[in-house]
Amino acid sequence: MARLGNWIEPFPEGIYVKPADAWVDPSEPKERALVTHGHADHARGGHGAVWATPETLAIMDVRYGQQCANPVAYGETVKLGEVEVSFVPAGHVLGSAQIVLDYRGERVVVSGDYKRRPDPTCAPFVVVPCDIFITEATFGLPVFRHPDTGAEIDRLLKRLRHEEGRCILVGAYALGKAQRVIAELRARGHHEPIYYHGAMERLCNLYETLGVPLGELRPVAGAKKEELVGRVIICPPSALNDRWSRRLPDPVTSMASGWMRVRQRARQKNVELPLVISDHGDWDELIQTIKEVAPKEVWITHGREDALMHWCMLHQIKSRELHLVGREDDEEE
Ligand SMILES: [Zn+2]
Ligand SMILES: [Zn+2]
Repeated sequence: MARLGNWIEPFPEGIYVKPADAWVDPSEPKERALVTHGHADHARGGHGAVWATPETLAIMDVRYGQQCANPVAYGETVKLGEVEVSFVPAGHVLGSAQIVLDYRGERVVVSGDYKRRPDPTCAPFVVVPCDIFITEATFGLPVFRHPDTGAEIDRLLKRLRHEEGRCILVGAYALGKAQRVIAELRARGHHEPIYYHGAMERLCNLYETLGVPLGELRPVAGAKKEELVGRVIICPPSALNDRWSRRLPDPVTSMASGWMRVRQRARQKNVELPLVISDHGDWDELIQTIKEVAPKEVWITHGREDALMHWCMLHQIKSRELHLVGREDDEEE
């Protein structure tokens, strides 16, 4: 009997689906690319043709210019060669999808990046039973257990009320995390204007255009220093400690990332108020997902494979690690 999934070939630059002659999330330009979501370690410019959700394609247009695009909405199926391809929500960022590949009675699900917690800015993860589940393992260690997101947002708001004459500057990845922090603040009753770094503008506008309300947003550029006192300001993590932030009124430096669970990382970045808010599943979410998807095999990407492989072994699920290059964690840039 042929080996399970022998029609799927992992290469360092991506996952090749032979009978579709297409690549999933290739890190190099390819003739045919299937893209799970808009983060730069999954979506690159320069492909011949791209299949992705309409939201992901819109994000790619903003980042890389017009794509030769084949939009596939959640729940739709397209046929590439002999392979049926569909896109199912991954709960990671707006438009993020698991790519479901059906070929001659076998089903492979490439989950891209995912989380299981509710996120007001995107559709929740859908469990798709399959033969091979390809999962990320960004936080694939039992020490990673993310706290409740609402409680983290409440810590931010409490700090805002108690700091006189200061603002809170939150570093957040420009695609997904920034909009989620804003939407979570709104959900916790913060309806004041939120200020943003210029690098956030296009993606925030796009989210709103695609139906994710973010409330009143104002650019920092052009705002007077006094106006920024007592405000939440969102910027890319790279701007937290640079010259740009000197114009702000005595900022409390904060950052929203799953990595803020690691104190040393917070210290390295001089983060006074670390917020553990992640768009990747923690250990419990990864395990829960594998149990629910109940695959015959688990293929693992994104670092930290060992612990998850060990868990699979204990639970009699075959597993292997894929050595894909360029899969950075999305939460750092
Ligand atoms: Zn991602
Ligand atoms: Zn990723």
